[in-house]
Amino acid sequence: MQFNFTEEQQAFADSVRRFALTHLEKDALRRAHDPRYPFDVAKLMSAQGLMGITLAEADGGQGGTLTDAVIAIEQVAAICPRSADVVQFGNFGPMRTFAEYATPQQKARWLPDLLQGRMVMSLGITEPDAGSAATDLKTSAKPDGADYIINGSKVFSTFSPDAAIFLIYVRYGPGLGGIGSVIVERGAAGFTIGKPSRFMSGEEWSELHFDDCRIPAENVLLGPGGFKQQIAAFNVERLGNSARSLALGRYAYERAREHTLTREQFGRPLCEFQGLQWKFAEMAIKLDAAQLLLYRAATNADRRLPSAYETAVAKAACNQAGFEVANDAIQAMGALGYSSETLVEYCMRRCRGWMIAGGSIEMLKNRIAEHVFDRRFDQRPPRAKPQAAE
Ligand SMILES: Cc1cc2nc3c(=O)[nH]c(=O)nc-3n(C[C@H](O)[C@H](O)[C@H](O)COP(=O)(O)OP(=O)(O)OC[C@H]3O[C@@H](n4cnc5c(N)ncnc54)[C@H](O)[C@@H]3O)c2cc1C
Repeated sequence: MQFNFTEEQQAFADSVRRFALTHLEKDALRRAHDPRYPFDVAKLMSAQGLMGITLAEADGGQGGTLTDAVIAIEQVAAICPRSADVVQFGNFGPMRTFAEYATPQQKARWLPDLLQGRMVMSLGITEPDAGSAATDLKTSAKPDGADYIINGSKVFSTFSPDAAIFLIYVRYGPGLGGIGSVIVERGAAGFTIGKPSRFMSGEEWSELHFDDCRIPAENVLLGPGGFKQQIAAFNVERLGNSARSLALGRYAYERAREHTLTREQFGRPLCEFQGLQWKFAEMAIKLDAAQLLLYRAATNADRRLPSAYETAVAKAACNQAGFEVANDAIQAMGALGYSSETLVEYCMRRCRGWMIAGGSIEMLKNRIAEHVFDRRFDQRPPRAKPQAAE
């Protein structure tokens, strides 16, 4: 067992840090308050080899590992928290699921633009009546000659105001086995993108409406029965979510630590008050513990898809640690931490959302409990027992 980076990992981390200091540090505050996807950052990252780190070289990726991609998020977020979203998109988001299951034709058509930062993709799973119970989704895909006709609505999709293509979970038929996914392009007939709404984080999302939206059969990503494959790939997205939670918690912690070393009250630096020392000790324990769980899930997966259990444990730990630490960092910095002149309050708002997005902490705990007891716990109400015949 080893708890240090290898020489190559350390060299990679150093190179990403240098890149972030040179290109991302200057506008970090402005970027955090801009709701739109930073295409300029995506292009810079593409040139630096930070998009498609885990994708095969044949697909235009770097052939690296999930741990490399986690390192990239950490190093970028330490300098510019908002730019970590681009590392997420380029390595963990729907693009990773797409690259896993797309046909050679689909890859040739969309991957170059996605990997070179010219295009962003949005993921549509959640519907007004299907949140945590994602398999209740109703958006339908019905074959019609050489096409499919899509009907339904999606909500809360990240990057939806900026995306050129959408990976949409659809229902071809009843039950779990009827679920799969399609790619819908912005501008497709019958596809309407609503006015942007705003999350507490400042990010925007738009309602997506499909009214007899016609797409060619070549846009099917996974046919009926694809749900399990999609969710397996979604564990990669969850690790990216975990990495950002932790990295933004650590960003807030570092700013608060620096502040506490220099800010004086009652004639002495704040770090000399035991009430704050213990707060920072607890913050350090939470960050380190969550980080080890994240590295375990990422390292054990390497180039494969990560384990559902290790991912659930890592995400729950990182989401909790990120939010609690960022929240404590605000407290330690007083009004300055609460002000939008620092990125500490931004980190807290972003971390709050990741406790809900991509599998809420409660749903992750349900998954962990199934592993603990080695049995399935159905979340749906028990079916009424058939009445015995008189
Ligand atoms: C920042 C952000 C980004 C997002 N991005 C996307 C995206 O890109 N694409 C997309 O499709 N969706 C996205 N979502 C939506 C997200 O996936 C859903 O919000 C999530 O699945 C929860 O669904 P819900 O909000 O409808 O809450 P509900 O499912 O209504 O749940 C409400 C509360 O009840 C709890 N709960 C529900 N069921 C159980 C249970 N069985 N046991 C215990 N507790 C339970 C939940 O944990 C939650 O706390 C995003 C959300 C956020 C906040």
